[in-house]
Order: sequence, then structure tokens, then C-alpha cells
Amino acid sequence: MPEPELSVVVPMYDEQDVIPLFVDRLRPLAEAWGVTYEILCVDDGSSDATPVLLQRLRREWDAVRVVRLRANAGHQAAISAGLDRARGRYVVTIDADLQDPPETIAEMLAVAREQDVDVVYGVREDRSSDTAFKRVTARAFYRSIRALSDVDSRVDAGDFRLMSRATVDAVNALPEQNRVLRLVVPALGFPSASVGYTRAERAAGDSKYPLGKMLRLAVDGVTGFSIAPLRFATWLGLLGGVAALAVLVYAVAAMLLGNTLPGWTSTVVVVAAVGAVQLLALGILGEYVRRTYAALQARPTYFVAHDSLTGGEERADAR
Ligand code: UDP
Ligand code: MG
Repeated sequence: MPEPELSVVVPMYDEQDVIPLFVDRLRPLAEAWGVTYEILCVDDGSSDATPVLLQRLRREWDAVRVVRLRANAGHQAAISAGLDRARGRYVVTIDADLQDPPETIAEMLAVAREQDVDVVYGVREDRSSDTAFKRVTARAFYRSIRALSDVDSRVDAGDFRLMSRATVDAVNALPEQNRVLRLVVPALGFPSASVGYTRAERAAGDSKYPLGKMLRLAVDGVTGFSIAPLRFATWLGLLGGVAALAVLVYAVAAMLLGNTLPGWTSTVVVVAAVGAVQLLALGILGEYVRRTYAALQARPTYFVAHDSLTGGEERADAR
């Protein structure tokens, strides 16, 4: 198969009930896209009939490619597996459960080409089909991320988005683990646009995102994009250390003035000195941990949009 213009990456975990519905809806749309495409289904270690259905689908539709993960790696990892293998000039990631309307893919592609942007975010304009719990927790998640980090993530943009080849290559080049793509992609800073869509109800089956997985995503999002908790610990260590030093000075002064019980001063001095050393050391360690962590994530520290010497087309930044 030659390299297609468009790759559609679909993570699927135990989606036997959804696959036939998804394919029936996607196929006529895909045939009208007017570009070459591949449908890259990532089977995230399903234990139901998903692998069987995908093998059958592959025989019926040549554009379908199937990648099966050995074990359930999670939504973000399944998408990453797809991004690593997708070959298109443009790559769209979409959920299998029809909560993201496949009709929007054509719109995303048109926007990317017309506005010459690298990323087109699908923004949920109406999520009334989600449960109140999901809406409240999602809102709290996006708000706190925006408050804690300096990533300009779109509120209510999930993992339904289009990315250019340059964007996908940049994402794939990042060595960091447990990345939350809906934050990594905006952090890369490529020119972007967005299209709105109405979040539909899951077409069939149950959500594959139990509370545990949602919390995992939230913790990965905060720790991946904010060092505020670590900074807080550092400051606490430094403040505690200074307070312990003050206690130490006070205990010695009180002894010299003679108004202490025998043994009190030595006890307080030892406790305060040990505490001060430990807390100050923790504060210093925190700063090195921060730098080590940033080095491990190996994110670029700047992005060149254009350099007049090496050429390339200068273009308006769409963000
Ligand atoms: N998914 C996956 N691995 C997982 C959990 C989910 O590949 O461990 C896929 C799932 O099949 C679906 C998409 O990720 O295509 C979104 O999951 P789901 O619809 O269950 O999440 P929700 O919409 O409830 O947040
Ligand atoms: Mg869903």
C-alpha cells in the first residue's frame, strides 16, 4: 500500500458491540473523502470478539489495517501505538464508540488544508449526552490543568483531532511516558484551528473508562504539565527548615538565660537541627528532581516557526 493522504487511528478496547455500527457509518463517508486513506484500528488487548471482528473487517475493506496490542495498555497508549504506525500526511484520532461524529473528519481535513494549519482540534460544544458526573469532573480537570500549567489547552478538546505529519512526528519523537496527548499536542505549539461538534451518546456497549482510569489520566495530566506540586513541597521544605533553625536558636537562648528544665535544650536542639537539615535538603533535592524530570521528558524548549536563511514558507500563525 502506498502512503495514504489520511490515516484514521481508532483505539478499540472490547468494542465488539460498536464495531459494526462504526464501520457502517464510517465507510460511506470515507469513500466520499476523495483522498487515499487507511483506517488503522488499534485493538488494545481486547478480550471479547473485537479481534475476530477486525480480522473479518480487514478482509472486507482493504483500507483497514489492524494493530493488536498484547495487553490492555490504555486509551492514550493505544492512540500512541497508532500514531507510531500511521503513515498518512494527515492523521485523525477518533473514538470507536461514535461519540465523536465521523462526519467531522472531512471538515477537519478541509480546515487543515484551507487554513494551512497543523492541528485541528475537535471541540465538544455540546456534551449534554455525557453524564453529569463526567461533565463536572472533566470541567474540574481542564480548569485545574489550565490554572496549574502554562499549556494553552483547549477547554473541552478531547482526543478527537487531526494532526499533520510534522505534528505526529514531533509527538512520536518525545520519549516521555504516560503522556496525555490532549495536553502534549497543544504544548508542541503548532499552528492550529478547531471545529466544534456535538458529543453524541455511546452507540453501544459500556464506557471503557472507569473512575480509576480517569484519575490516572488526571494525575498524569497534572504531573506531566505542572511542577506546582513539587514546587509546593520544595517551599514547604525550605520554610520548615528555616522554622526549625529558629526553634534551635530559641532553645539555645532560653538555656543561656537559664529558664529551662535540664535536658530540654539538648532534646530540642537535636530535633530542630535534624529537622532543619532534612527539610532544607528536601527543598534542594526538589529542585534537582525538577530538572531531572524535565530532562527525561525531553520536550523542546522552543519552536522555530520560520528561519529566513533556511527558507520554507513563511506563514501566519493560526493560533
Ligand atoms: N479505549 C482503549 N483502551 C482503554 C480504554 C478505552 O483503547 O483502555 C478506547 C475505547 O475503545 C474507545 C475510546 O478509547 O474507542 C474511548 O473510550 P470510552 O468511550 O470507553 O471512554 P469515554 O467516552 O467513556 O470517556
Ligand atoms: Mg466514549
